Amino acid sequence: MPLPKAELHLHIEGTLEPELAFALAERNGVALPYATTGELREAYRFSDLQSFLDLYYALMAVLRTPEDFTALADAYLERAAAQGVRHAEIFFDPQAHTARGVPIGTVVEGLAASLDRAEERYGISTRLIMCFLRDESAESALATLEAAKPYLDRITGVGLDSAEVGHPPAKFREVYEEAARLGLRRVAHAGEEGPAEYVREALDVLGVERIDHGLRCMEDPELVRRLARERIPLTLCPLSNVRLRVIDTLADHPLREMLDAGLLVTVNSDDPAYFGGYAGDNYDAVRDALALDPEQLRVLARHSFEAAFLDDDEPRRARYLSEVEAYTF
Ligand SMILES: [Zn+2]
Repeated sequence: MPLPKAELHLHIEGTLEPELAFALAERNGVALPYATTGELREAYRFSDLQSFLDLYYALMAVLRTPEDFTALADAYLERAAAQGVRHAEIFFDPQAHTARGVPIGTVVEGLAASLDRAEERYGISTRLIMCFLRDESAESALATLEAAKPYLDRITGVGLDSAEVGHPPAKFREVYEEAARLGLRRVAHAGEEGPAEYVREALDVLGVERIDHGLRCMEDPELVRRLARERIPLTLCPLSNVRLRVIDTLADHPLREMLDAGLLVTVNSDDPAYFGGYAGDNYDAVRDALALDPEQLRVLARHSFEAAFLDDDEPRRARYLSEVEAYTF
């Protein structure tokens, strides 16, 4: 049995495996520029951020109906359950779908149909977090939040993702203020490729409660002390960092230093179909590359539940935490 864990940084569009992409392409009559799943799997060996994003957005063309989104989420949950995920906070990118004519309601209702049965089928509790594409305009983010209003009973929070450099958090001040007024939780990608200053800005200007990635905070000792003092969770994605060349090899990952600095770090998979592994694979990879001992892995799992948006269900959080403490390696 794998170590119980929560996954807090997972883009549902990034879980689209080649086999499902082909199946949905056929069902929807969408032509893919690849003849076989093998050829497509080769394309998943992209070389940099731009080639990843090109493939990522191109493949979304196969997602058209609510049932497609249900199938996508079901496939993720099944894999996540097999790797010990007990709670998943799932990101989705409405603008990537509305831009190609798929309404936000199709996306939310399709995902919700899967999440509604996730507990019963996969033993996983879930939350849904809507992300804004930071390389789109602030007006587009505001329009997206407006379009999401009929579905807010299904959406726990908002996030900020896609190409970071040149798109500082402050660009989205207004939409985050509105999200706060609506009672939504707030997270943002920051300090992945962008500077440590973006982490500070996400906290101070956007009022985020968690930082996605955030590893470049290590360049700023004062910021590290603040993140530790305020217990701000950081959702790290080690395999993603290597594939997107944020670091050269896993052995260079600062996870161990971050733990030693008292940071509330968690381990997650980001876009697992593209980055070479799901949540448990990321735990295994850092264990091997950084020689983490079982108690350090237990700390990471404990952190994942401490950082989860389970404030509305503390008995569940307590139950998950006791599963982590009782786990034998
Ligand atoms: Zn991400």
